Amino acid sequence: MRELTKPDLLAWLGESRPARLQELYESADAVRQEHVGDAVHLRGLIEISSHCVRQCMYCGLRKANRDLARYRMTRAEIENCARQAEALGYGTVVVQAGEDDGLAADWIAEIVRWFKRETRLAVTLSLGERSEDQLRLWRSAGADRYLLRFETSDKSLFRTIHPFRHAGGPDRIALLRRIKALGYEAGGGVMVGIPGQSFESLANDIMTFRSLDLDMIGIGPYIAHAATPLGSGALRPDIAPSEQVPASEEMVYKMIALARIICPDANIPSTTALATLNRTDGRKRGLKVGANVVMPNLTPMKYRRMYEIYPAKACIDEGADDCSRCLRAQISSLGRSTGSGPGGRGAAAMQAVSVPSVSSQLVQLEA
Ligand code: SAM
Ligand code: SF4
Repeated sequence: MRELTKPDLLAWLGESRPARLQELYESADAVRQEHVGDAVHLRGLIEISSHCVRQCMYCGLRKANRDLARYRMTRAEIENCARQAEALGYGTVVVQAGEDDGLAADWIAEIVRWFKRETRLAVTLSLGERSEDQLRLWRSAGADRYLLRFETSDKSLFRTIHPFRHAGGPDRIALLRRIKALGYEAGGGVMVGIPGQSFESLANDIMTFRSLDLDMIGIGPYIAHAATPLGSGALRPDIAPSEQVPASEEMVYKMIALARIICPDANIPSTTALATLNRTDGRKRGLKVGANVVMPNLTPMKYRRMYEIYPAKACIDEGADDCSRCLRAQISSLGRSTGSGPGGRGAAAMQAVSVPSVSSQLVQLEA
């Protein structure tokens, strides 16, 4: 079996014939079943702070957005969310925030220690670009995983949409390598359809998923936020219209499917941003084309609207119980099971059911 090459990836990213796309999606689904099984893992998301010192040109939490009310959760509120996660049967919590200097490194470490002492939850942190010392401290406190999307592998586009905090970096791809070296399971990922993003760079993104050997890969559509330079049109990266990747549902499905085929045992979420583009079916369709994770929101209702990364986010008015019920119903309607335990990369492979080899389908994909 020949592996998909960059020209193959480019051909698939440009494919629009429904029958060919169906083949791609079925192959990705078969790879998913063979390598990570039917279980869909639930990661409870706790958005602990909407403060951010950064000025990312795409994100509603950017510091310059003065219209956004900001919050920082208390330790008691975070612990309540953790109890809820356990009561709802989740195996992992994702503790996410803007890059907030008000979250002291020792305070985060204390919370991680509390999680590891008082619960059986795996802890994923997603707190932005942090120093080596902070990342090491949190890892030694017991944090299991770290999520840091690299957003795009196109260095020039990344620099345009993601101003450095300190001259020269850090480069998120290099930081992901450090995160892995510290012993975290590492999660990277990209937005699809960023203004200025070309098909070629998207193919490079997939090659980067593989070269980084990512444990988790988050892929979601870019959604314009009017209070940002990229969303308002004040910033328009230069690109030929024929090369611009659309921020469409279909592009995201293609990316999820190709990521699954290229990185067969990675954990890949069907994201809330995808559900925002298609509220009825987006999340389920993501699960049918290669994804095996969903992230129900545990953030207290009073804070949800203040974590406005992009507008009209899906599931913002659903409490934690409703969100859990709804996602479980979606998972069982697909004939899939809900994962138990932390659902790390190795565990996913161990739960996989044995199905006939998918190599014949991949051979067809190369045609
Ligand atoms: N501050 C941390 C960071 O940047 O890694 C974590 C929180 S940040 C809000 C999480 C992710 O939201 C980013 O990595 C980015 O991919 C996504 N995001 C931000 N703005 C977005 C937009 N306008 N559309 C879609 N996704 C967006
Ligand atoms: Fe801050 Fe993350 Fe948004 Fe950038 S993407 S502005 S670092 S919250």
